[in-house]
This record gives sequence, structure tokens and C-alpha cells, in this order.
Amino acid sequence: RLALDGICVNFDGVPAVQDLTLDVGAGELVCLLGPSGCGKSTTLRVAAGVERQTSGRVFVDGSVVSDERVHAPPEARSVGLMFQDFALFPHLTVAENVGFGLRKGVGAAERAATVTDYLRRVGLSGYERKYPHQLSGGEQQRVALARALAPRPRVMLMDEPFSGLDNRLRDEVRDESLSILKEEGAGVLLVTHDPDEAMRMSDRIALMREGRIVQVGAAYHIYNYPKDRAAAAFFSDLN
Ligand code: ATP
Ligand code: MG
Repeated sequence: RLALDGICVNFDGVPAVQDLTLDVGAGELVCLLGPSGCGKSTTLRVAAGVERQTSGRVFVDGSVVSDERVHAPPEARSVGLMFQDFALFPHLTVAENVGFGLRKGVGAAERAATVTDYLRRVGLSGYERKYPHQLSGGEQQRVALARALAPRPRVMLMDEPFSGLDNRLRDEVRDESLSILKEEGAGVLLVTHDPDEAMRMSDRIALMREGRIVQVGAAYHIYNYPKDRAAAAFFSDLN
């Protein structure tokens, strides 16, 4: 499970995230919703370790991975990342791409078996030897998904990872990934611009504005009892 505790991030003295505290439990899906520029991606980048917070602490499964003294690199956090620009390595095969995040100590046979298993789970059995340019956009995205899932992260951070896909493919890839993550008991922190998606997918929703979480709770609760007009406005075009 992931815990963010009092996270602040300043860029050149300007606050992007302010005193943000949020938990994502094992097997829980939390959606981060908020207007452009409110600090959603920055929050995910801090959790992943690709950005270092100005102050505050990050925990994974109860152990501190970042505070004022320690700062574990992304690969040492058991945290997976899926971004919208999911770029595969063009010069590596599908199998090499999927195997990329596995620990260096994993033997060749186990590595190949893991790669095959995750390709099957995303519906791409037999694609091992292809190169990214030989795949459609949706297939590439599913390879990226297998790559993110294969190391079996305890927490998956997703920053609008499905937004480049058409509706049918988006539903398919999203349901696929979320069910695999649920099965493995991983926590998910999902950034989305789509309140409808947040309503349907999430266990809880965290609403952000100007670097802060303004309300967090079960989707139906926020929908029925928005804290203020701005919170209500997120859902105003739902019916
Ligand atoms: P969007 O919905 O548009 O993706 P967001 O909620 O993900 O927005 P962030 O990318 O986290 O927003 O940005 C939060 C604020 O921090 C913005 O004002 C942005 O301009 C600023 N910011 C983000 N990254 C940097 C950076 N590397 N250097 C300076 N400012 C940054
Ligand atoms: Mg963003």
C-alpha cells in the first residue's frame, strides 16, 4: 500500500503540491480528479520517485521510501508507472520491452515465462519477437501495460494511460489492467479527466485543486455530498 504524508512540491518557489496526504490501500483503486495544472501528475511523479518532494514522506507497504534523509530510486520502490506517452523502446522486441523492468537477477527461463504469461494476459500471445513499429497503437499500449505489470508492483500509478485509445479499446485495456491489478492485490492511483470513469472505477475519489486535496471519499458520497460548488461542478455533466 502507498501512503503520501504531508507532501509539498515547489518549483522555483512556486507551490505545485501543498501538504498532500493520501493513502491507497492494497487492492484499492483511488482516482485523482482535478483541473489541469492542479498537481496530479506531480503527485504521481513524487510517489514514483522520478520527482523529489520539497518536504513530506512517501511510504510503500509501511516502509519509508522517501523523506528528508532517504530517497529510494523508482526501481527500488515496487511501484509501477503508466503514462499517456507510454513509449516502448523501438530497438527492442516486444519480449525485451516486457522483460525490461524485471529484476536483473531473474534467470532467462523465468524471465521468458513471465513475459509470455503477461503477453497472454493482455491478449498478445505470440508477439514476443515483433518490434513496436510492427504493432498498432492499441497493441503497443498493451505491450506497455504488460511491461508495467510484469514486475508485479505493489502499487500502480496511472496518469491518463488510456486516453490515447478509441472508446472500445480504452474500455478493454482499462478493464484488463485493472482486473490484473486487483487480482494481484496491488493498489492503484489513477489520474483521469473523466468523472464518469472515476465514478464507475474507483473505490474512492480524491478531488484536487491548486495543489491540495479538497475532498476524498467514496464516489457516491462525493457525488451526493460535494463539499462545494467546484466539487459539484466536476460531476455536473453526469447523469
Ligand atoms: P494536467 O491535468 O494538465 O496534466 P496536472 O494536474 O497533472 O495537470 P502538474 O503537471 O502536476 O498538473 O503541474 C502542477 C503545476 O506544477 C503546474 O502549474 C505546472 O506548470 C507546474 N510544474 C509541473 N512540472 C514542473 C516542472 N518540472 N517545473 C516547473 N513547474 C512545473
Ligand atoms: Mg498531468
